[in-house]
Amino acid sequence: MKINNIELFKVPPRWLFVKVSTDDGLAGWGEPVVEGRAETSRAAVEELTAYLLGADASRIEDLWQVLYRGGFYRGGPVLMSAISGIEQALWDIRGQRLGVPVYDLLGGAVRDQMKVYGWIGGDAPAHVAEEAAARVQAGYLAVKMNATAQMEWIDSASQVQAAVARLAAVRDAVGYDVGVAVDFHGRVHKGMAKILAKELEPLKPLFIEEPVLPENNEALSILQRHSSIPIATGERLYTRWGFKAVLEQGAVDIIQPDLSHAGGIWETRKIAAMAEAYDVAVAPHCPLGPIALAASLQLDFCTPNAFIQETSLGIHYNQGADVLDYLLDPSVFALERGYIRRPAGAGLGIRINEAKVREQAAVGHNWKSPVWRHADGSVAEW
Ligand SMILES: [Mg+2]
Repeated sequence: MKINNIELFKVPPRWLFVKVSTDDGLAGWGEPVVEGRAETSRAAVEELTAYLLGADASRIEDLWQVLYRGGFYRGGPVLMSAISGIEQALWDIRGQRLGVPVYDLLGGAVRDQMKVYGWIGGDAPAHVAEEAAARVQAGYLAVKMNATAQMEWIDSASQVQAAVARLAAVRDAVGYDVGVAVDFHGRVHKGMAKILAKELEPLKPLFIEEPVLPENNEALSILQRHSSIPIATGERLYTRWGFKAVLEQGAVDIIQPDLSHAGGIWETRKIAAMAEAYDVAVAPHCPLGPIALAASLQLDFCTPNAFIQETSLGIHYNQGADVLDYLLDPSVFALERGYIRRPAGAGLGIRINEAKVREQAAVGHNWKSPVWRHADGSVAEW
């Protein structure tokens, strides 16, 4: 059960997969990628390989500690995403070896199905009402949209009115039984986040996400005073230590760790336990591929305070390939009345179509986040 090979595959639309193999013939898969920095992520995994080859694949916590603490410098999106993907693959191997799903190794199942949500409207939200109606038609009970496109530090009243009108159009299309989450995407600054939160409140969004950049999270305490909408953040926070301050602050209602960035399945389970102690819900971030989604679902099925799961099926980034394309059996992610059923398979519960992965790795990708500019030519947050 010693690790004897680690392979990386950069595949469309914007993903990086890792396959970790052991000397007794098992293989596990992970997704160690920072969106827009796939080559940097690849280099990080390759550098960590020296610590892994020849090691016992079952010692997941110990290997995590080596990878995390062993470099002296630690944390951040690149190193933590590399560790996350490797860690997912190690759990996949562990579950396969024991013949059980990962959630069975982390306390056992706490639910039978998990509510999921899909994206509408794209980066610069448009056609949201039609897309929301289509998602509901397809069986979703919740959707998420961007609040705005780029926004000036202090922007016009008409931009605020337009954001309210878009959410109102979605409410008109789908009613109030459907959850509609609104992502500020860290592109709104405090002065506008306050008024947006207040003006959107009557339309009862499921939550507002990253109302400010994570480096400005002290502003969440101010936003909390201007609106009763649940506040979510955390896709750009890493490890237990990254979530400590925001939980202690008490202004966040939902944390959104990304299992491909925050440190993997077990690290995110620990973060979720910290959140539970602060009465905070968990909605794992997942705009990535099938392995990241499978890892997220394993967490959801053993985590009492997980309440909804993001999926990237049909997300605007998935040009040229989508979540189901790399699976031998896509039915594991089948949507049934807004929920995905608990997977029964061992490990991560998916079977990767390796031939397809190898074929698409030859195609590769060079996906980058867009660089936006304001009307005056200055750089805007995307
Ligand atoms: Mg987001």
